[in-house]
Amino acid sequence: MPTSSSKLTSAVVPCPAVESLDAILPEEPLLMMGAGPVPIPAAVAKANTIVINHLGATMVKVISQVKTMARYVFQTHSKWVLGVAGPGSAAMEMAISNLAWEGTRMLSIKNGFFSGRMAEMGRRVGARVSTLEVADRSVASLDEIAEAIRRERPEIVTVVQGETSNTVWNYQLKDIAALAKAAGALVIVDAVCTLSTMPLAMDAWGIDAVITGGQKGLSSIPGVSLIAFSDAAWERVKGRTAPNAHWCLDASLAENFWHNAGYHYTAPVSGVLALHEALRLVCAETLEKRFARHQKCSVALQDGVTALGLQLYAPKECRLNSVVGIEVPAGLSPGDVCAHISRQHQVEISGSFGLPIVRIGQMGEQCREHNLFRTVHALGRTMVDLGVKVDLPAGVAALERALSEGK
Ligand SMILES: *Cc1c(COP(=O)(O)O)cnc(C)c1O
Repeated sequence: MPTSSSKLTSAVVPCPAVESLDAILPEEPLLMMGAGPVPIPAAVAKANTIVINHLGATMVKVISQVKTMARYVFQTHSKWVLGVAGPGSAAMEMAISNLAWEGTRMLSIKNGFFSGRMAEMGRRVGARVSTLEVADRSVASLDEIAEAIRRERPEIVTVVQGETSNTVWNYQLKDIAALAKAAGALVIVDAVCTLSTMPLAMDAWGIDAVITGGQKGLSSIPGVSLIAFSDAAWERVKGRTAPNAHWCLDASLAENFWHNAGYHYTAPVSGVLALHEALRLVCAETLEKRFARHQKCSVALQDGVTALGLQLYAPKECRLNSVVGIEVPAGLSPGDVCAHISRQHQVEISGSFGLPIVRIGQMGEQCREHNLFRTVHALGRTMVDLGVKVDLPAGVAALERALSEGK
């Protein structure tokens, strides 16, 4: 006699009726001003519609150019640039799982949600992870970091350049890397949020692995990421005796595709083409001009938000420009604000993992003046609609003043 569970599993699955995307997507695309994904330029969107042979001659040329452009963006001469099919977290896991294993001593400087993820990944590969817990809205002092390095004698130090969750900027990154280097440790930097939005000089600062995603500073699509290893890091990758348990993320296997025109897994060709275009646009703009655009737009946004009468979350000295955190006035929740601004003004912004803030991104295409005006206006109107007293004209005026003065 069939049991009820075998009846269930043998039942035919009927063909479902679902709605088309046209029915699901809003009539007017939402302006993506949150903490990523960010708007993509037309050239990136177009590239993302194309599929080509993942092992053909065109792809070989595309990969070669992606690596060349990525070296400029990472500011490294290292050969060891690779792409990753996956989110920024996959690039992170590629860095951690190739460089750390059972018993590796790893020091993780934890400024928040994302930098804490590197520690978690270290623990999962069996590393002996010690965590330097940094108080919210601040950075660790160089003395504290030097002391932790002396105490823990890490083989690997992990640190985030911009902690997107609480909008804190590790502005002493160069000095942190130097401290780790001097103690013989390899330095892994999470630049998922910040790459191409602010200076990062992989070689000059002595960084051994830099990770980034597509959907933030680079203004590409989510799901295809980049990683760069220094020669020293690559030596460690090649010198390990136990193979990486993550087959897809094994850097030695990825070398087949990214350096030897061979097969590892079928690359996300459309996403790689999109990334190619995103990098090409960075090169066309130049890093100097791109950094200046981000700085100018973010500071203007901060001026506008402050003039509305709202408070910024991170103190000035360690405030991230790439994502701006704004305190949510008492009586409101971040969810209320995000839902209202999206529904009423077609502008998407982000909450932040339980913190009492909303976040507005200033990454890549988000840093355009027209997007800023729409966003500051929509945020101000949202506050008015939700019963918070703000000075909307003052906010828009401050934004205009900052942009036209270009400070
Ligand atoms: C977004 C982000 C990540 C995670 O990237 P995913 O693409 O969501 O995996 C990691 N670190 C930082 C600093 C980020 O901003």
